[in-house]
Amino acid sequence: MSRRFGGYEPPLEMSLSVSRSHGYTAGARMQRETIQIQNFIGGQFVRPKAGRYLDNIEPATGLPYSQVPDGDAADVELAVEAAEKAFPSWSRTPAAERSRILLRIADLIERDLEKFARAESIDTGKPLALARSLDIPRASSNFRFFATAILHTENEAHVTDGVAFNYTLRQPRGIVGLISPWNLPLYLLSWKIAPAIAVGDTAIAKPSELTPMTAFLLCEICQEAGLPAGVLNIVHGTGPNVGAAITAHPKIGTISFTGGTLTGRKVAEAGAALFKKISLELGGKNPNIIFADADFEAAIAGSVRSSFANQGQVCLCGSRIFVERSRYPEFVRRFTEKVAQLRLGDPLEASTDQGAIVTKVQMDKVQYYVELAKEEGGKVELGGAAPQPPNDRCRNGYFFPPTVITGWPVSCRVNREEIFGPVVTITPFDEDDEVVRYANDVEYGLSSSVWTQNLNRAHLVAEQIHAGTVWVNCWLVRDLRVPFGGMKQSGVGREGGEEALRFFTEAKNVCIARS
Ligand code: NDP
Repeated sequence: MSRRFGGYEPPLEMSLSVSRSHGYTAGARMQRETIQIQNFIGGQFVRPKAGRYLDNIEPATGLPYSQVPDGDAADVELAVEAAEKAFPSWSRTPAAERSRILLRIADLIERDLEKFARAESIDTGKPLALARSLDIPRASSNFRFFATAILHTENEAHVTDGVAFNYTLRQPRGIVGLISPWNLPLYLLSWKIAPAIAVGDTAIAKPSELTPMTAFLLCEICQEAGLPAGVLNIVHGTGPNVGAAITAHPKIGTISFTGGTLTGRKVAEAGAALFKKISLELGGKNPNIIFADADFEAAIAGSVRSSFANQGQVCLCGSRIFVERSRYPEFVRRFTEKVAQLRLGDPLEASTDQGAIVTKVQMDKVQYYVELAKEEGGKVELGGAAPQPPNDRCRNGYFFPPTVITGWPVSCRVNREEIFGPVVTITPFDEDDEVVRYANDVEYGLSSSVWTQNLNRAHLVAEQIHAGTVWVNCWLVRDLRVPFGGMKQSGVGREGGEEALRFFTEAKNVCIARS
């Protein structure tokens, strides 16, 4: 039996709850009575036009626990009609009113933090504690940040001596398409939705079909917050069906995409023919450089996080660690000891540091790269094979232990291709120039970390690394005002702060002649 989910009863906390006594209680119920997510179009929850649904699997159990619309171009067309209808009024709504509604959305996400965090953990396999401390608070911050940012913008004016006076209007562009991946579902989708609707655009968003639940919950919150119908529309379904229909639609002139590099290429190709404005946030193979003069306690703790947060499924994870040779053996020993202490477990257990991998396909990909590393001559210092399931509930779940590999050339495939899982490599280096060369010797350029107490060296190395972000003595410190994005095959364009406000608007110069 299917339960329509959209104006749903009983509330999600009952369906997705964790019993105080011993873990998860809802599995049996969800196998009997599947939650059915709906599209959100024109302010209403609606079934996909073709009536098709896909099973949504809980990674920790390997079992379907909900259904997600298997939408297509017909659903995108409906969403375009709704967004088009909403645009004239929303784009003229005063910034203060748009801000008020976005702030209300932020408040409501905070109010429902626990419900959102559980939904995110169940959908993705990430530890509940991570969803509670990172993903959901950040989603709320995204709305709060852009709600207030639009109240403090300035208009530029350029005076042409004796001839004219120019001023710049930044106007909303119209209907925007927002496509996001499965690893940080609400965090990344709200990072796009918030600036887009804050500036007065109307949006059609597509979350990954693998992790649709929190996007669905967000729609309920938008209704409650009084967001006018059609300002935000969410169409669920696969990339080739819904994603491709969004990127190909002639009325959607702006696309903000986060995902893999190969998919990004398809999005760019589809959009180029229609001259769309496109922002691409793509994959990474990020270097994490530890100099001998670093604060080793901090570097090791930071590297454990940057290697294995969210089971290594963060685009910013530092999957290539380089350590100055004089301290390489010490680093490998201490880092490996610390990684061995990470507790792999049921994502819903409070003690869990490492949850499940998002799908079996992804888990198999991780295993494939570990086998490849061995073939290429690498030594597996830790992990490398599927562990025992953490409990009976998770006996069919997708788990892979944190894996540390050493001892083979930087040029091998495992050191160049994005794995997007709990696997890191550690390589020694001797000279600053040498490590900069290693860092840059991949097709990606998303982020990097540098650990050193030498300020001069930090500046010099940061300047030379080909990456959109260089963290010095830290990782994943994210100020929402700073430009964010990748170089080379990690992306095109920047998001964040002013960059996002500019991306989602069109600059128009008004030139008034001096009489
Ligand atoms: P994918 O590229 O497979 O998918 C991303 C999104 O694009 C999904 O919603 C997907 O839909 C959709 N999609 C798939 N095919 C098409 C298409 N032809 N046209 C339009 N949309 C399509 O990435 P993953 O979901 O596997 O995410 C992991 C990747 O994302 C990694 O490479 C990671 O580095 C990158 N990433 C980059 C970030 C950054 O900020 N630079 C941040 C986070 C992740 P569906 O899943 O439903 O098929």
